[in-house]
Amino acid sequence: MAVFSLSDFADHEQVVFCSDDKSGLKAIIAVHNSNLGPALGGCRMWPYANEEEAVRDVLRLSRGMTYKSAMANLKLGGGKSVIIGNPRTQKTPELLAAFARALENLNGRYIAAEDSGTSVADMKYMTQFTQHVAGIHDKPTEDGTRSGDPSPATAFGTFIGIKAAVREKLGRDSLEGLKIAVQGVGNVGFDLAQQLHAAGAKLWVTDIHKESLARAEVELGATVVAPEEIFGLDVDVFAPCALGAVLNDQTIPQLKARIVAGASNNQLAEPRHGVELMKRGILYAPDYVINAGGIIDVYHERIGFERAALIAHVEGIYDNLLEIFERARKEERPTGEVADAIAEERFGR
Ligand code: NAD
Repeated sequence: MAVFSLSDFADHEQVVFCSDDKSGLKAIIAVHNSNLGPALGGCRMWPYANEEEAVRDVLRLSRGMTYKSAMANLKLGGGKSVIIGNPRTQKTPELLAAFARALENLNGRYIAAEDSGTSVADMKYMTQFTQHVAGIHDKPTEDGTRSGDPSPATAFGTFIGIKAAVREKLGRDSLEGLKIAVQGVGNVGFDLAQQLHAAGAKLWVTDIHKESLARAEVELGATVVAPEEIFGLDVDVFAPCALGAVLNDQTIPQLKARIVAGASNNQLAEPRHGVELMKRGILYAPDYVINAGGIIDVYHERIGFERAALIAHVEGIYDNLLEIFERARKEERPTGEVADAIAEERFGR
């Protein structure tokens, strides 16, 4: 299998293939770019159908982290790792230890955090073997402490990002009375819905799990709809907070919302869907810009956590988005394309 000539290979600095016979570890660590600092990104464990799929995933995701961190003004580069295997049946302490030793061998060029298939507990366990993991410490909050889970910061950043999009598209600062559809009320989506409700927005929500929907209905007065109904609602904002590729040929024609702004990663099925949204006059807040609260949270843990500094940094998502929106408007380009250009300027591609 070729690597250098894969379409997902984008001038990556280093790609490391790690294996350990005893534990069965097969992992790939990709450092895309470290101009701004050590490469930080999640460690995903997934039963990839084949090795090429795993290589492509780690290359694509690590590149994305370079753009996300640069855009969020972090002194971090972009990296990601994947462990090939089923996290439910193949994730053993031996395997995590072997992976942690591989991290240690990279001397901090790559720092791992939890991702799909791994947990904060897994990262904490790995600290026995390496210091190069992040997102593991409890953090002070207004009413006690919370775990290393970055979701609250992601939700707060998404809330701030929705406000920036509303300012740009609707010319107002208040969310009072705005109609907002939230797709997925999990860790991020429910927290976001709470903030939107507190700001006076009227909510429509969907999920494939019933428990959180019932909570949203009772606690936030949200209207619950079926998963396929969320796209076509007559709302002001559509906030995807469930899964990727939700902006595609099937869903975009249904959208009545004038703004798409949510926390999901990789919302555009293909870059051309960003053009499609622009043509329809729908303002799209680029996913990696609006959902950067989580990586900002992890970064602050590394530099010595101060709650006020974290909040101020996450609030910077507002200005980042306004800069993108303004440039996209003036240059008549899709917001995602403009975001990439700004990120590239920042990391010095
Ligand atoms: P989560 O798993 O807690 O929540 C996702 C929710 O979406 C779940 O409740 C799930 O049941 C629901 N869902 C799944 N498929 C659905 C469908 N077809 N229709 C409607 N709902 C569906 O995950 P999360 O941590 O809240 O993350 C949400 C999104 O934000 C993900 O795309 C994630 O990659 C992205 N994100 C999260 C963070 C973070 O800090 N947690 C950071 C950046 C990006």
